[in-house]
Amino acid sequence: MSFSATILTLYPEMFPGPLGISLAGDALSRGVWSLEARNIRDHGLGRHRTVDDTPAGGGPGMVLRCDVLGAAIDAAAPTDDPRPKLLMSPRGRPLTQSYARELAAGPGVIIVCGRFEGVDERVIEARGLTEVSIGDYVLSGGEMAAMIVLDACVRLLPGVMGKEASGTEESFETSRLEYPHYTRPREWEGRTIPDVLLNGNHAHIERWRREESERITRERRPDLLER
Ligand code: SAH
Repeated sequence: MSFSATILTLYPEMFPGPLGISLAGDALSRGVWSLEARNIRDHGLGRHRTVDDTPAGGGPGMVLRCDVLGAAIDAAAPTDDPRPKLLMSPRGRPLTQSYARELAAGPGVIIVCGRFEGVDERVIEARGLTEVSIGDYVLSGGEMAAMIVLDACVRLLPGVMGKEASGTEESFETSRLEYPHYTRPREWEGRTIPDVLLNGNHAHIERWRREESERITRERRPDLLER
């Protein structure tokens, strides 16, 4: 059974978007994972298919209605659907490499994309939505955030990345940022490739890379070393 993603959004035409090309797109056409984008508005109310209303208690913006969203979730996922239900949200659990790995190891995800000021709190509780954040900044909608969650998961699925190993040596997998990469030409604008990478001594190369990883992590993200 392959990893299956269902997206609930007001803008299904945004999908697959960038997920339809390169690594994720190839995997999608090979059936390694599947993607269904469903329009929340199909469950909107009345002639105008209304999905939102003004916030109780006043204040700016609009709130996605719990009845509309609840119906959209129920139509997308039977009650015994084993996939976690996520809601993209700036106050959610931070997306990390280990969380992506955890999700990628499961059957897939159902992802609700917020818009406007957000969603009625009651649907979060009633449908057991897990709020997930992609970082400490505010986007205008959950769609791009959902794409980031999916991209991070899909590249970890078996058979998606060329070399099985290339997933585990990267930044964050080891709490270290990655060492610098080089390729041809050997000299460019007076800049050369470090000699150690050219003389074929794999023990030295490994040590140099480890030291560079440590140095870069210490300089840029000392918080990672404390974890
Ligand atoms: N009023 C909200 C922001 C709403 S932004 C607040 O102050 O927290 C509109 C939608 O964009 C949100 O419902 C959410 O689905 C999505 N979104 C915005 N920033 C996000 C982030 N950092 N991570 C994940 N989703 C985000």
